[in-house]
Amino acid sequence: MNGGQTSGAGRFDALRAVASRRGRPGDRLLDELSRARTANTCDSASWSPGVATRLGLPAASALGPATFYADLAAPHGRRHVRVCTGAACFAATGGRPLDAVEEELGLRAGGVSPDAAVSLQAVRCLGHCYAAPAALTDGRACTGPALADQIAGRAPCAAPSIPRADATGDPVLLGSGPAVVDPLEVWKRTVTASDPGDVHEQVAASGLRGRGGAAYGVAAKWKAVRLSDDTVVVANGDEGDPGSYADRLLMEVHPRRVLAGLALACFACGADRGRILVRSEYPAALAALHRTCEQAYTERHFGENVHGTGRALQVEVWAGHGSYVAGEETALIASLEGGRGCARARPPYPTERGLWDAPTVVGNVETLAALPWIVSRGGAAYARRGTPSEPGTKLVSLSERFARPGVYEVELGTSVEHIVSGLGGGLKDGARLAVLQIGGPLGGFLPADGLDVPLADTELAARGAALGHGGLVAFDDSLEPADVLRHTWQFAAAESCGACSPCRVGTRQGLELATAGSDPGEDWVRLARVLEEASLCAFGRRLPAAVRSLARAYGQRFPSGWAP
Ligand code: SF4
Repeated sequence: MNGGQTSGAGRFDALRAVASRRGRPGDRLLDELSRARTANTCDSASWSPGVATRLGLPAASALGPATFYADLAAPHGRRHVRVCTGAACFAATGGRPLDAVEEELGLRAGGVSPDAAVSLQAVRCLGHCYAAPAALTDGRACTGPALADQIAGRAPCAAPSIPRADATGDPVLLGSGPAVVDPLEVWKRTVTASDPGDVHEQVAASGLRGRGGAAYGVAAKWKAVRLSDDTVVVANGDEGDPGSYADRLLMEVHPRRVLAGLALACFACGADRGRILVRSEYPAALAALHRTCEQAYTERHFGENVHGTGRALQVEVWAGHGSYVAGEETALIASLEGGRGCARARPPYPTERGLWDAPTVVGNVETLAALPWIVSRGGAAYARRGTPSEPGTKLVSLSERFARPGVYEVELGTSVEHIVSGLGGGLKDGARLAVLQIGGPLGGFLPADGLDVPLADTELAARGAALGHGGLVAFDDSLEPADVLRHTWQFAAAESCGACSPCRVGTRQGLELATAGSDPGEDWVRLARVLEEASLCAFGRRLPAAVRSLARAYGQRFPSGWAP
């Protein structure tokens, strides 16, 4: 810090300057706001400034986050119910995921009962897509058609564990049992006997790309920070794509694999600090990672002197607070600093200037979980998996409408048709598939007769879709296409972070056009162009392609003006 300038930034940011001078209390701001929100029915504007003042931050610094994050903005009664309105729950309830619970509680979403006994919040994915519809009541999961009975206490909460299966014969991510080496033992062997360069080399040879949606080369990202000694690695467990619950599975069932991957990434990047951010909608994942992280310190995998090597590795587990865009890497960093989870323009890239201005590598949980396999079996072995241009395996999440929903590990390049019919068993109860959403709201839709495409970024992109996070949500033909369109825009308007006006205003205009129900004509052509060309991040830029793919997938059942 020099003369009020943030080091290396070339611009002055008052909040960051104050926060740095006071030991970065912003690190604790969101957790403190979350604590203050518990059983608090008041508007966050009334109580949040006091939280900031107690932390030595300007009072106004709390107002932004307290009104931005869904969990902090929603009033909380003594019992807080979060109901999922994500794509799988929408599809499982004929497009009305809130109705039964609202009726049961006598409350609208966002409301609180007059005696403050119960409050209701709509959220966009709880990661129980295989057993939809779903809700969390004070953090306890309830799922299935009897959801309202469970919330009312007339039936016990039912939350089956995630069905999962390996379809590769040699799983990278889902391997378990005595024959599989403990991933943290792979970390131990590596840190005691290898060089960071070896890890980097194996990962470069593997061709591993990020599995969070952007598909950026992992080795290339690491290379950008390798020689910086204050580097931080952040594991992104903010799996926001409605329809995908693969990261939840990894964090709950294979937390040692996730943490070992984070440790290996830190080692390769020369970082002695790792963070993992877990979304608040996954309380069991958060608990599993806290437990496993503590264990890893006890077993000397983490700490000041890891396995006597003289290397330090400090790993911390952080909770999210309810925002889809906060999963984007620049927004994630803003969130970890205690700010609103808004995306920012790049450059500078996080690898150059990230968490508290330190070079920062952000890696998705599934990406990191592949590292123990790659390091122990070799990059070349991984590169032989999948396809030559997109090597490796991928977890796909199949929604409740399938006969056999669950998470499957497949080779990249596996036909979508095989995943839907062979693994998923088609749709249950004789329902007929109308359209298939792949890769979440920014991914795209395929028609029921257009599934003959390999599960790979390039091939899906050629069909106007995207692999994204690998969530496959089946929409059967009982749903009205116009409702699916409105649902897509409702999601976009609710989750736009608001940092740029093309998306902040454009998503609301899109929702208005969709709600009007008529052919949008030139209004949509103009709006799509603005979103694609002027949005700050992929959220706004990808929306038009996703909407067009929906229109194409429904074909004649859809106003043609949405397709161009
Ligand atoms: Fe935020 Fe949307 Fe702009 Fe991205 S495109 S920065 S989500 S407002």
